[in-house]
Amino acid sequence: MEDLWNYLTNYTSKQSIFIKYLLKRLGFGSNKSEETYCYEYIEKLKGILKKEENLIDVLLRDYNTKKYIQQIPLKQFSASYLTASDLAEYVFCPVAFSINKTYETKSNIESDIGLIMHDERVLLSYLEKDVIGATGSGISQRFKERNGVINSSNQAFFTEIENSTLLYSGHSENRVPYINKDKNFTGQPDYVFRNSKGKIFIVEEKYHEGLREKTNFYNNHKIQLASYIYLLNQIGADYGYLVYWSYYRKTYYTNTNYNTINNQPVKQWIGVNKCDVMILRKNDNVESFLERTLNNVKSFVDVKSTIFELNSLNINKCVSCAYTNYCGHKTKRFTKITLPYIKDFTKLMFVPYPEELKKQDKDNTNLKDSE
Ligand code: SF4
Repeated sequence: MEDLWNYLTNYTSKQSIFIKYLLKRLGFGSNKSEETYCYEYIEKLKGILKKEENLIDVLLRDYNTKKYIQQIPLKQFSASYLTASDLAEYVFCPVAFSINKTYETKSNIESDIGLIMHDERVLLSYLEKDVIGATGSGISQRFKERNGVINSSNQAFFTEIENSTLLYSGHSENRVPYINKDKNFTGQPDYVFRNSKGKIFIVEEKYHEGLREKTNFYNNHKIQLASYIYLLNQIGADYGYLVYWSYYRKTYYTNTNYNTINNQPVKQWIGVNKCDVMILRKNDNVESFLERTLNNVKSFVDVKSTIFELNSLNINKCVSCAYTNYCGHKTKRFTKITLPYIKDFTKLMFVPYPEELKKQDKDNTNLKDSE
């Protein structure tokens, strides 16, 4: 990793040494052939840094999670029923599935905003006539700047929703999930509608911060929707829609617009500025993809171990993955995954603390005595 100093142009030489040290402790670049991968990882991380943070902050979060992993409460995993979210998570990454079944992981700001927007039932509030042009508080304010959200690419969807009857909304309080006892499967779609021709369809919403330029839809979300269509027989859906809302955050310096995220009061405004929609119809490809996934997840849960294909690693996914701080697999050192996620995967590597940093660096003294 010698070239990393030159590569980290925005960092002092001591910061670069510290970054290199942290990467090695986390298990990156453990041999020559993996150095390129380590550079790529750093490059991607730099690309997604938030304004108020730097590489060291992000790597230290990863490091500290692993160092204090014993303090993280474990989950009681019951394999009696699989959920649509389980299938989605497994398709996203089987390591993520294992980590989420093992630890009580902390939510991040993106998932908290997603929950807020889920609870507000964005789609329904968007379509309420009295919301249009509203200047009041709460949900209606999300749509003050709604120009362009409905366009030729999604018009048919919105027209269909407006002409359909809502049968179920998974966000409402006291709604119970649907269950398929034969398949030991349970799921709670966001919405179930009946259209004007009597056909039943499902709508699943997802949220994305920033304006999505591409309109690609992810397999993990598709499998979730497909599982509702195929496995929740009580609904009897014919097709479904996947809806991606793009949202933006603005800061308002007023005491009247507080939201609470991660228990912190934040003066923020969350607005919606784009909506991408895809329709998922029943077909053989979707059905066999669903069947394969269901079998893979069931087998992993039964056997408690599975192969991890290194070539399935996707750095773009890893740097923004909600489980990245718990994950050792992103370093390319493991070819097996277990359930639960064993501590060997989160173990820090032994690396001597750099001589250059010993004299100063009061802030990082906690790193010197690590294993
Ligand atoms: S960091 Fe990467 S390998 Fe690890 S759980 Fe997330 S996506 Fe999977």
